[in-house]
Amino acid sequence: MNEVKKTKKPLIYYYVIVLIALLLINFLAMPWLAGRQIQEVDYSTFTDMAENKEIGSVEIQQQENRILFTDKDGTRIYETGMVGDPDLTDRLNESGAKFSGQIVEQMSPVLSFLLSWVLPIVIFVGIGQYISKKLMQRAGGANSMAFGMGKSNAKIYVKSSEGIKFSDVAGEDEAKENLTEIVDYLHNPEKYREIGASMPKGILLVGPPGTGKTMLAKAVAGEADVPFFSMSGSEFVEMFVGMGAAKVRDLFKQAKEKAPCIVFIDEIDAIGKKRDGQVGGNDEREQTLNQLLTEMDGFEENSGVILLAATNRPESLDPALTRPGRFDRRVPVELPDLKGREEILKVHAKKIKLQGGVDFNKIARMASGASGAELANIVNEAALRAVRDKRSVVTQADLEESIEVVIAGYQKKNAILTNEEKKVVSYHEIGHALVAAMQSHSAPVQKITIVPRTSGALGYTMQVEDGNHYLMTKEELENKVATLTGGRAAEEIVFGSVTTGASNDIEQATKVVRAMITRYGMDEHFDMVAMETVTNQYLGGDTSLACSAETQTQIDRQVVQLVKTQHEKARQILTENREKLDELAQYLYEKETITGEEFMKILNS
Ligand code: ADP
Repeated sequence: MNEVKKTKKPLIYYYVIVLIALLLINFLAMPWLAGRQIQEVDYSTFTDMAENKEIGSVEIQQQENRILFTDKDGTRIYETGMVGDPDLTDRLNESGAKFSGQIVEQMSPVLSFLLSWVLPIVIFVGIGQYISKKLMQRAGGANSMAFGMGKSNAKIYVKSSEGIKFSDVAGEDEAKENLTEIVDYLHNPEKYREIGASMPKGILLVGPPGTGKTMLAKAVAGEADVPFFSMSGSEFVEMFVGMGAAKVRDLFKQAKEKAPCIVFIDEIDAIGKKRDGQVGGNDEREQTLNQLLTEMDGFEENSGVILLAATNRPESLDPALTRPGRFDRRVPVELPDLKGREEILKVHAKKIKLQGGVDFNKIARMASGASGAELANIVNEAALRAVRDKRSVVTQADLEESIEVVIAGYQKKNAILTNEEKKVVSYHEIGHALVAAMQSHSAPVQKITIVPRTSGALGYTMQVEDGNHYLMTKEELENKVATLTGGRAAEEIVFGSVTTGASNDIEQATKVVRAMITRYGMDEHFDMVAMETVTNQYLGGDTSLACSAETQTQIDRQVVQLVKTQHEKARQILTENREKLDELAQYLYEKETITGEEFMKILNS
């Protein structure tokens, strides 16, 4: 940031000024305007002065119950109260005072009206205007445009030697390769100009949250050694209509002055959402978007300004924004694969003190599906755990435990399960693990535990895949469902009753089976027809049904059927291996946490 902000005075400052102004008007200006100062004296002073013939003129104000009089020269005015003096008239006659009509001139009614009514209103309106102007300036940032509104508050990260480089972003090789071209262009635009090639004006980074999109944008600026303007889409949209558009104009003006440079707009979907033409749409957002589109058309190709934008919801963007000539290049930034996860862990592990011989591959396998941000969090949790245990280095165990913390929350140290509950949980978890192990296609178990977690899980079985899995067969999915039902199946076989502990399993199993039928075409009955569409690919993958009500009924029936079949299969596997089930459950009950190796040893013994 190279912008120096003026210190802003608090609102109370202005109110105090108003108060002082009003007091001054009331106590000083009004009496001055109303007339000369009047001195109050007692009645005996009045009679003495009358006797000594020192009174110039006199005015008796019956209604006000007072007598006003002046000295001989008429320079001073005195006031005294009426005391019901019967000799008053004689006294005054003798003193030779003149009875004048008016000693103190009354203010003209027009002036009095102006002073008492119009002036305060004018002052109030003036001050109100001033304050609201100040407030608008605050909302709008600096103060160059009308009322100071409409300046972008884009942060400027001016090139610095410790800027983020591509080497700080682990994995994401495809994205990096794509962006290297931009860096090369920013270094040497002539090379491209000579041939007549032009760089895309805008590049859209799309992917799930926490995969390093912001980092990549910063890395491009760092590698190219150019200024980096960063703004979030939501920062454009303000309370006042028209402000966003002004901000866009200003951002581009600044960027053109600083070219070559990179402008990064995070969460661009906040302004770039499809204009749906509904009555009463969001005017401010649409105006902002229109301005952005116009600005993008306005700057020439090869002007040296490169626009990067990031979003988790590419499908919601306005087509005008993604057409050629605008954000026409799309760089996917996906969740890291096994190798990517391992590299990200290593990058972040450089920042902490690590014991030798840590197996990053194993940790990366355990953290399947984790994003870059989650992996960074896992490493940090491990370091925190080491500090908590008063150790000076982070160990493999710290890292493994922190994965569980990120997945399932912290251990609940003081949650006390009854022996009966503990037994049920042991059987439930062994049920999962045993079904998984007995089906040849299932991944081996890594760890089973019945230590309650803050997420509410009373225990869990951690499965770890050997390598990357890009495709899953129908059998693998079915086995997964069978494994999920294994916990409940064990409870049924051993205790003859069921508990609430399987709610999460039920939810997951239903989700898998539903997807098999409606999206993967794995049911003979429906063949290859899509019954559901994914609406939010990178944010949880919500789906919406696209079929008739009758078909929905049939789908529901098929889902129930498929889950039932797998549940039955799990029950059969466990019944056939009842001895092992008892033995393993007893072992887990005693030890509370067992590893995959221990499990396999007992299973194979
Ligand atoms: P996004 O913009 O995609 O939501 P960020 O770029 O803000 O994600 O990443 C958040 C944090 O996650 C980063 O500060 C970094 O610590 C970590 N991170 C994410 N991806 C990576 C990666 N590929 N390599 C190293 N760290 C990463």
